[in-house]
Amino acid sequence: MSARIIGVHAADDGGLPMAVRRAAAAGARALQVFTAPPTYYNEKVGFKAEKAAKVHAALAEAGIERRHVLVHAAYVLNTASPEETKAMRARAGLAKELERSTALAAGGCCFHPGSAGDSDPSDAAVRVGLTIRHALETVPETEDGTRVLIENTAGAGRTMGRSAEEIALMLAQVPAELRHRTGYGLDTCHLFAAGHDIATSAEAQRAVLERFVAVIGEKPAFFHLNDSQHPFGSNKDRHALIGEGAIGAEPFRWLLADAISLGIPLILETPSERETVVEDDPSADPADARMIALLGGFLAS
Ligand SMILES: [Zn+2]
Ligand SMILES: [Zn+2]
Repeated sequence: MSARIIGVHAADDGGLPMAVRRAAAAGARALQVFTAPPTYYNEKVGFKAEKAAKVHAALAEAGIERRHVLVHAAYVLNTASPEETKAMRARAGLAKELERSTALAAGGCCFHPGSAGDSDPSDAAVRVGLTIRHALETVPETEDGTRVLIENTAGAGRTMGRSAEEIALMLAQVPAELRHRTGYGLDTCHLFAAGHDIATSAEAQRAVLERFVAVIGEKPAFFHLNDSQHPFGSNKDRHALIGEGAIGAEPFRWLLADAISLGIPLILETPSERETVVEDDPSADPADARMIALLGGFLAS
């Protein structure tokens, strides 16, 4: 069971190589980062080769493989939006996310599809799919095979991506020859908040995950491991430390024992303990280190 690639979304104060060092100090074998400030569209922000080289050196030193690095796209990108201006900026933004993630040779770039607003969800799914297609057509494939990955959502308001069917519909818009460059990932807090029963028994959890695999036609490319501050079906996206939320610790033991979690980045996005991070401090966030130790204990038992 040691082949579980557990990692964290580490703070990048002082630069991305510092995020790599903090993750490694916490015991991580995978890493999630932003390549630009997540509250902006960043549709003109590139990623220089020299910057990538520094991150790659830090990863090599940390023993973290590039394909186990996940980039989280900006939160503001609303690729599902029926509003032309928003949708166009999201389109340009997602293509740049893929460009930067590819420059970093990351395994994937994950994004929240956004909200359908007052439009029909199936029309919104088509827009999301076409936005993915645009990104894939804009950024040439490299041998690192950086993928664009849809993240499931907690289902607040009219956000897209709460069900396997919606994710399948979005991915169905991508032409067959580009389809291998896309995929999806599952956040445990979002699953739970969206009303997928992953917490009452290992069997119930297995059934939920099997359904995603069956409907979408492939396994998830990553998991985000987060407990939930809010109850089952609340549609609220507030992460809690593993074992300190409404999901509880046990469902994470089941997930780590399931072959579905094998070989892919399993990223903690749980609350950090530090309010401020000193730029040149490479030490781990104590909460991250604790979470990785907790999950490691599940694997050993
Ligand atoms: Zn996310
Ligand atoms: Zn979340």
